[in-house]
Amino acid sequence: MANKKVGEFDLIERYFKRPARQSVLGVGDDCALIQPTPGTQLAISSDMLVQGRHFFADVDPCTLGHKALAVNLSDLAACGAKPLAFTLALALPHVDEIWLAAFSKGLFALADAHGCELIGGDTTQGPLNICITVFGEVPVVNGRTQALLRSGAKTGDDLYVSGTLGDARLALDVLRGTVSLPPEVFAQARARLETPTPRVALGLALRGVASAAIDVSDGLLGDLGHVLIASGVGAVIDTQIATQLIAARAYLTRANGQFDTPNGPQLPRQTDLQTCLAYVLAGGDDYELAFTASPGQRDAVQAAARASNTPVTRIGQIETSPGLRLMDAQGHAVANTFKSFDHFA
Ligand code: ADP
Ligand code: MG
Repeated sequence: MANKKVGEFDLIERYFKRPARQSVLGVGDDCALIQPTPGTQLAISSDMLVQGRHFFADVDPCTLGHKALAVNLSDLAACGAKPLAFTLALALPHVDEIWLAAFSKGLFALADAHGCELIGGDTTQGPLNICITVFGEVPVVNGRTQALLRSGAKTGDDLYVSGTLGDARLALDVLRGTVSLPPEVFAQARARLETPTPRVALGLALRGVASAAIDVSDGLLGDLGHVLIASGVGAVIDTQIATQLIAARAYLTRANGQFDTPNGPQLPRQTDLQTCLAYVLAGGDDYELAFTASPGQRDAVQAAARASNTPVTRIGQIETSPGLRLMDAQGHAVANTFKSFDHFA
């Protein structure tokens, strides 16, 4: 049972209760009520953020509010579900109104951007812990769900990722002091870590186009592995394309713990491609989508990317033989040592 604290109801009233919209009964009763559109299914997902595990104690509460919801919306995006509503279960060590005001501001800014309404939750005293459950909807057509699933990848399908990969993990390494970056480059990487963009519009646009999808929260190799196992297939990734996916690649050099200021034509020789590859393949927290689609859908994939204003890159292909293989531009096998790469140990 929750450890009820004096001020709990004022706190909910002040920071989390807003007038209900749509035909929803929101915060204030024993249950919330949501009415999915006829002909749709509910898509439901929960993600918990724990201090020390998922964020540092001193993280900006406004970005934390954003991220707590963003990681959940990212799961809806991966399923091609339209966000409807969410609940918030919050454990707080004490009532800090400045913290709460900033947290709820970041939370509601993202919620409003996606038309996703806070309809309830729970509040208790304890070590800082934030658990959100999101509810979205997906159409059912002729008895078949239109949700994008992990299990739909087929031999011969193209493999894509959205946006950039590895920058969030790079920012984490800077915060931990193992890598340094110029301040403006760090600021961009840090935004990827602290205020990720859930690819909801892309997920919606990929319904009926992608054969399988997942959001990249734990690193591409691991997350893609879930798709391959669920689909009973394997894949090959082009490492030359993959190394291009980290936005801060120009600043990744062999001189660990330092950066080289990019210097015109010499830049490609200074950049350590193995390091770039490690971040792209094994870095986490990017919240991009990895998805597959048959080659016949290439134009449709590009149209979905344009419609959602989200860049997508084709990085490989699905194969019959299980497992994940890495290949260079000449088609030679590249050793897949990235899970044990020191940087991510
Ligand atoms: P109960 O005791 O019936 O579980 P609570 O007293 O915990 O309900 O909560 C009262 C109302 O406030 C409920 O509608 C609940 O969903 C809502 N609520 C509690 N905590 C939060 C929160 N952190 N964010 C949004 N709504 C909340
Ligand atoms: Mg009750």
